[in-house]
Amino acid sequence: MPTRTERALGAVIGSAVGDALGAPFEFGPEGAFSARFPTPGLGGEMCGGGGWDPGEATDDTQMAVLVAESLLEHGGLDLPDVFRRFQRWAAADPKDIGLQTEAVLTGGDPWDLAAALHFQTSQRAAGNGALMRAAPSAVYFAHLGRDATMDAARRLSALTHGDRAAWEGTAVLHALIRTALAGDDPVAAVPETLRAVHPDHHDRYATVLAPDWHPDRATEFNGAVWPCLASAVWAVRTTTGYEEAVRAALDLGGDTDTVAAVTGGLAGAVYGVGAVPARWTEPLHVPLPGFAGRVLRVADLTVLARRLCR
Ligand SMILES: [Mg+2]
Repeated sequence: MPTRTERALGAVIGSAVGDALGAPFEFGPEGAFSARFPTPGLGGEMCGGGGWDPGEATDDTQMAVLVAESLLEHGGLDLPDVFRRFQRWAAADPKDIGLQTEAVLTGGDPWDLAAALHFQTSQRAAGNGALMRAAPSAVYFAHLGRDATMDAARRLSALTHGDRAAWEGTAVLHALIRTALAGDDPVAAVPETLRAVHPDHHDRYATVLAPDWHPDRATEFNGAVWPCLASAVWAVRTTTGYEEAVRAALDLGGDTDTVAAVTGGLAGAVYGVGAVPARWTEPLHVPLPGFAGRVLRVADLTVLARRLCR
């Protein structure tokens, strides 16, 4: 059985690995990953492409690292600081950034209004862009209990996403990772976690997180928060290891980097960092545009995740 620290490292590193594996397959068709790599375990999967170097993590992990470093440097949630870090990063022209995240971060509105104002005019803010950066805050807040963890998740989501649907999905993911860190089964914890979801959003999450849900039943593209979270839970529920879960997520196609980042974070917390193949962590690297050319490798992520684990 992995230790709590091994699970925390698994969440943070497992998410980054999923992101980097998925990046070259973003917006591709179903099954593209297995078509290229039919036999698990043979290597070469960190292939790069689509503008990404092999092992290069995208905005998902870049924003997750920014959250992690803010939490550690400020000893807790300092929302204006997280927003400033996001803005600094967004201004440095990252290779990828969510459309809505970019609009919110570069619009010049104050941190506590920007996302809400954007949502008022766009009415579209239920993307998976807050879900994708959840692993560090899930690890950091876990010891404070489920409700405090979910509340922190909502506040971090609200920095870029004005739609409460995005907050609630991100809060659910935080709670499920928290359950896994304790050595318990996050899939079994779905019903009790749903009871903590805001009543306006409960039924829709109950539908997509039900045991019989399958990604074929998604009613939106998996760049939306509901099918993204649900696909990650489905991938963990229907597989028995980290690599198998991430492969299942990658083969869904669509927003592969984020679906695999979310799946990898949850599966990494379940199986621990020891289950994340070294051939995937070795080429992994996380550039941080706007932060003096810093590039984090797996050793840096390990230090970060250890410090997050309290
Ligand atoms: Mg991305």
